Amino acid sequence: MSVPKRCNRCILPNSCDLIPFDSDGTCKLCKAALTENPPAQQTADPQMSLNDHIERIRQKGKGRKYDCVVGVSGGRDSTYLLSLLVKRHQLRCLAVYYRTPFTSKTIDTNIRRIVRQLGVDFEEIQLSQEYHRKIARKMVLLWKKKAHRLIINLACGPCKLLNREMYRIAHRHKVPTILYGTNIYEAVQIAPGISKKQAVVRGGAQVSSVTRKIKSMFSLMSSGAQLLVEFPGLIRYLWLGVKSSVLYISPHTFYLGLRYPGIKTFNYFYDGRWDEEDCQTTLNELGWERPPGCNTSWKADCSFSEIKNKMLHQTIGITYADAFFSNMVRAGAMSRQEALQRIETEGKISEQRLREVQDILELDDRFWD
Ligand SMILES: [Zn+2]
Repeated sequence: MSVPKRCNRCILPNSCDLIPFDSDGTCKLCKAALTENPPAQQTADPQMSLNDHIERIRQKGKGRKYDCVVGVSGGRDSTYLLSLLVKRHQLRCLAVYYRTPFTSKTIDTNIRRIVRQLGVDFEEIQLSQEYHRKIARKMVLLWKKKAHRLIINLACGPCKLLNREMYRIAHRHKVPTILYGTNIYEAVQIAPGISKKQAVVRGGAQVSSVTRKIKSMFSLMSSGAQLLVEFPGLIRYLWLGVKSSVLYISPHTFYLGLRYPGIKTFNYFYDGRWDEEDCQTTLNELGWERPPGCNTSWKADCSFSEIKNKMLHQTIGITYADAFFSNMVRAGAMSRQEALQRIETEGKISEQRLREVQDILELDDRFWD
């Protein structure tokens, strides 16, 4: 396999057919970043510091059992967030967790032990693992017939339903704030599943106006309609498609805001700095372990990400790690040299984990032939 050529500023491979490259070998995202503020510096409200936000969350939580609901997957960033909220900010958290069919035993054990260690109350989301597995399997088989990036995204549809569950749980316990540990370098500018147009205009995605939210809702509906034209059989999954995109694709959709007006969401790492070294030190102190065969701590919570990366690479020429490291380089959080070095190991698809996912999905041995 030949080594892919990469953007000369970040490390985006030029095999990525979502992002155009200039003739000088620089990707459009880097070109745009030269003239705009790096998205990592955009915050929910530039007038407020992280401590102001935390204080506001604490005030709103007064007289209630919890200050906030926190989504935890057992993965690196959400575990780090939970520890920061409890130890650094002394917030009273209710940790909410869903064990997916692709959550390894190591990750599951990590989170159950760590919440006890931190003295945090814990609630599990009851979503059928078998339903989740069936949807993922169906979409992977459909992708095999005709590779389309939106089919890859639909495989992750069941996880989008968790956004609604988080609101439901917060509502039930009368908790006014839901906190997320979304990694800013993962969420801005490019996720490999978004379109060329979205990829170029996107930036500080969570800090969006109502107009932007409505526009995004219509854009999702139009992508869904196009997909139905190409895959008429998907009509059976229409409702899942609507729920996992238009209604609950993120915790910040127009619909969720309308449905639960008393509940606010806050992305901690959009205002608080996500410091990889501090994150790793915290995880070590907590005794967090990486699942066997996993090449990176990032996305270690979901073994489906291995097959997703493989499908994304074959469909649009890029993996999540390519996008993630490129975002970090572009935002000045990592040197290009370090990113190039790390992508060699951390960007590799783990054969062991891929095998595990294939077994869970009951895929044929000759699936990739
Ligand atoms: Zn670039």
